[in-house]
Formats: sequence, C-alpha cells, structure tokens
Amino acid sequence: MITASPAPRTTPDTPQPLADWRQLWREAVTDAHELLALLELDHLAGELPAADAGFRLRVPRGFVARMRRGDRHDPLLLQVLPQLAELETAPGFTRDAVGDLDARTAPGVLHKYQGRALLIASGTCAINCRYCFRRHFPYAEELAAAQQWREALAYLRQEDSISELILSGGDPLALSTGKLAELSVGLVDTTHVRRIRIHSRLPVVLPERIEDSLLAWLDSLPQQKVVVLHANHANEFDHTVDAACTRLRACGATLLNQSVLLRGINDDVEAQVALSERMFAAGVLPYYLHQLDRVQGTAHFEVSDAKATALVEALRARLPGYLVPRLVREVAGDVGKQPL
Ligand SMILES: *Cc1c(COP(=O)(O)O)cnc(C)c1O
Ligand code: SF4
Repeated sequence: MITASPAPRTTPDTPQPLADWRQLWREAVTDAHELLALLELDHLAGELPAADAGFRLRVPRGFVARMRRGDRHDPLLLQVLPQLAELETAPGFTRDAVGDLDARTAPGVLHKYQGRALLIASGTCAINCRYCFRRHFPYAEELAAAQQWREALAYLRQEDSISELILSGGDPLALSTGKLAELSVGLVDTTHVRRIRIHSRLPVVLPERIEDSLLAWLDSLPQQKVVVLHANHANEFDHTVDAACTRLRACGATLLNQSVLLRGINDDVEAQVALSERMFAAGVLPYYLHQLDRVQGTAHFEVSDAKATALVEALRARLPGYLVPRLVREVAGDVGKQPL
C-alpha cells in the first residue's frame, strides 16, 4: 500500500519545497540523444528517425526520472521517444481523426456534446506524447484562445444549456494562473456553468505546477471542480504526483483519470490492474480508457477492438467496479464518446 504524505499547503517553517514549474518546463529534455544517454541506452541512437516527423521530443526531467535505466521497453519511454514507425502511413490513419475542426462554434470552443463545452485553452503541453492527435495540429495558431476568450465567453454566456465548461488543450494548466483567473472572472455572471472540468497531464508529468497560486485560484472558484488527469501506466505515479493529487483534493476537486490504450505499454491485464490500483492510492478514480484516435503516424500503438474488450472483461473479474475504466472511442459527429 502506498501512502501519500499530505503535502502542507503553506506552513511558516517549511520553505516552499517545489522548484519553480516554469523553470522545470524550460529544462525539459528535447534531444533524443540526451534522453537515451540519461537512460543508459546510447546504443539505440542509430534507430532514431532522422527527422522528428514534425513533432518534437519533449519530456520533463522529473518524468524521465521515473523511467527504468537500460530498458528500451520502458512504458514511459515508449510514450515519448520518436520511432521510425511514425514515418509509416497506414490505411485509415488520417490527420484530423476526430473531426474536431468541424465542431468549432466560437474561436477555441468545441461544443459537440450536450451540456458540455470544451475550450481549447492552450496549445502547448509540457510533454509531447507520440500517440497524440495534437502532433498534426498547430493548435497554438489555430485555436488557442488567449486573445479570443472574449468571444468564447460570450458564447458560454449566451448558451444557457451549457452546465459544464471543460478546459482542455494542449494543456490548460500550461497557462499562467493569472490567465486562468481572467477566464474565471469572465464567468462570474454565467451561473448556468456549474462545473469546471480541467483536462491536464501536468499533475502527472510536471506535478510542481500544482503550486500555491494555482490552488488558491481553484479554491476561489464558485463552480464545482473536476480535474481529469492523464496517466497511462502505474509507473507514472511517484511521491511528487501523490503530493499534487493530495493538494488538488484538498481544494475540493474530484480527481479522475483518462488513459489511452497503447500497444506494448499498457495493453495487458497486469498493467491495467496496477494502473487502477496505483491511481486510487493517489485518490484518483479511473474514468476513460480510450481506444487510440487513428492519427497518422500512430498505427504502431493501436490495439484491436477484440483485444481491448477482452482486456476490460478481464479487468471486471479482477477489480472492484469503480476501478474499471470505461472503454471508449471518439467518433466524429457522435453525441458522446462511444462505449465499446
Ligand atoms: C470528450 C469530449 C467532451 C467530454 O465528454 P465526456 O464524455 O463528458 O467526458 C466534451 N466535448 C468534447 C469536444 C470532447 O471531445
Ligand atoms: S499531454 Fe495530452 S494533449 Fe499533450 S501531447 Fe500528451 S496526449 Fe497530447
């Protein structure tokens, strides 16, 4: 059993224990050769693709520290290391796999599902996950809404069917807390928005982001708060992630996790059981297990539907119901995520 030591929010005699997150963000590893050297895998340098297929390697050092040295199959490494297989094309794998560009209702706003609007709050992430749809979207230019929040907010104000605002991206917690506060101030008179949901991988990959000013902002929100993390493997959790989760829960946020089913990374029963158990130890419940979006350059991560459904059946036999994630796929034009 892993016990998360509750991190004190502020106590006068403890110095701020966390390094500045922006500094850690800038210091992320962006050179594949350096990453391999850190992991004592220099001999694999010859297998790196010459080009990065337009999507740069990026991984915070704290996340690298959770990878096993000398293991080329490490489940965290495989999520971030550019592979030659990315350069292959596969039938059915396209650039806009989820039809997002058709669902835009105001700049930065995707309103596909009833009652919920998703705001592309930021175009950047602290980590670049090789399986991500984002690899083909220059969201920063296309959608990220920094200057356009006025229009997005006007839309939210006028659409009173929207009870939940989802901040997504990219990673919404990549924004400064001041920027996030501008958004929440803009929502003050929009009482039909009762919940704010934040989709973020930062509590897992850069837990230092969960610092006092962010928590003070979360605390100040009148809406209910849900934070949906993104972890794919139990090894992504360590004491720094536990501390971030404890702090988020202390300001009243419900913590959920979404993951992507990835071949060779988490596509077996033991890995999924360990992931659910480990996240629950951190106070997080599994939410979605996504079938991969069929995005060009990611075919080598795909798990067949037959294997995926058998896997979730096996999980039902092993875990309490609340630790079994819902297996879903995103289908363009559907009213919600499609259960499998
Ligand atoms: C996934 C998604 C949501 C949220 O769906 P839930 O089933 O409520 O988690 C909302 N809007 C868009 C555009 C989405 O892709
Ligand atoms: S953190 Fe999420 S949005 Fe960013 S690259 Fe990874 S999967 Fe994509």
